[in-house]
Amino acid sequence: MSGPNTNYDPVEVAALDPATVDAALEAALAAVAEANSLEQLKALRPAHQGDKSPLALANREIGALPPSAKAEAGKRVGQARGRVSQAFSARQSELEAERDARILIEEAVDVTAPVARRPLGRRHPIELMSQRIADLFVGMGWEVAEGPEVEAEWFNFDALNFDADHPARQMQDTFYVEPADTGLVMRTHTSPVQARAMLERGVPLYIAAIGRVFRTDELDATHMPAFHQVEGLAVDEGITMAHLKGTLDRLATELFGEGVTTRLRPSFFPFTEPSAEMDLRCFVCLGKDPNCRTCKGTGWIEWGGCGMVNRNVLTAVGVDPDRYTGFAFGMGIDRALMFRTGVSDMREMIEGDVRFDAQFGMEI
Ligand SMILES: [Zn+2]
Repeated sequence: MSGPNTNYDPVEVAALDPATVDAALEAALAAVAEANSLEQLKALRPAHQGDKSPLALANREIGALPPSAKAEAGKRVGQARGRVSQAFSARQSELEAERDARILIEEAVDVTAPVARRPLGRRHPIELMSQRIADLFVGMGWEVAEGPEVEAEWFNFDALNFDADHPARQMQDTFYVEPADTGLVMRTHTSPVQARAMLERGVPLYIAAIGRVFRTDELDATHMPAFHQVEGLAVDEGITMAHLKGTLDRLATELFGEGVTTRLRPSFFPFTEPSAEMDLRCFVCLGKDPNCRTCKGTGWIEWGGCGMVNRNVLTAVGVDPDRYTGFAFGMGIDRALMFRTGVSDMREMIEGDVRFDAQFGMEI
């Protein structure tokens, strides 16, 4: 800034020259008009409105003018600065409005768009299959019965005609509840529900019992120390093995579809006589592949045991074996799930991996 000078000649002060002021004004207006973003506009401010901008420098020179020249110069510079300031404000408003409009479009929320919800849980496939089996039997007029998993040895073995020295009673097959004299075991099959039901409900009787059973098997791909069975028992006058075959074929069709082939193969169980194993024709190779992994080349898949209820079992629970006959069966649910889903390792069923449930825990 120049010092006060009474002899000052405004014409010689370049910063206050009207043409210079006009040029600074025009330059500022042109720059503001070309600014296409708030950032650009902000970057222009120091050059046109800052302390070192031409109009600010001109403004400071006014103080050095003689009083006669101050008014005109002050008006000129003041108007110019006002117009620049106005131009900046107007452009700022325009650019802010454009930005807001753009954000409204770019950040619009479509309230009708599908959203990523929390994944729904699935029921465990074993549970689903159990329910499906229960539905089938209820549909045939049967009742669903339950029994305790910790069972009296008498119900688990004695009532079912197991001899005192039957190998299944041995410690390597059965979990006994400590101390040894409790007379309790973890039930090794669902068959004790048969004895309980006949005692509690009497005959005639049609029951299905679905539940968990326990054996001292090592956990591997095809064995689990805890697994699931469906037990069926029908006791009435005139029940024959044909009823058994028909019932199991119906169950097999329900679980494995139309066209599944079954066979009964002679076997032995203490609580049925005669007894049979029920096999399913291998779904994978239909008996045509000697190297089939599912049936190990035999063409058949073992599914469970069955037979006509032993007279001794009927007698043990107070049913007259000369008047009533019955059939019973116990089928593996876990094995059925393996066949249905192609799961080759039973451990996948109990590891609690939610992806397993998500894949198989749906009935279609
Ligand atoms: Zn096969």
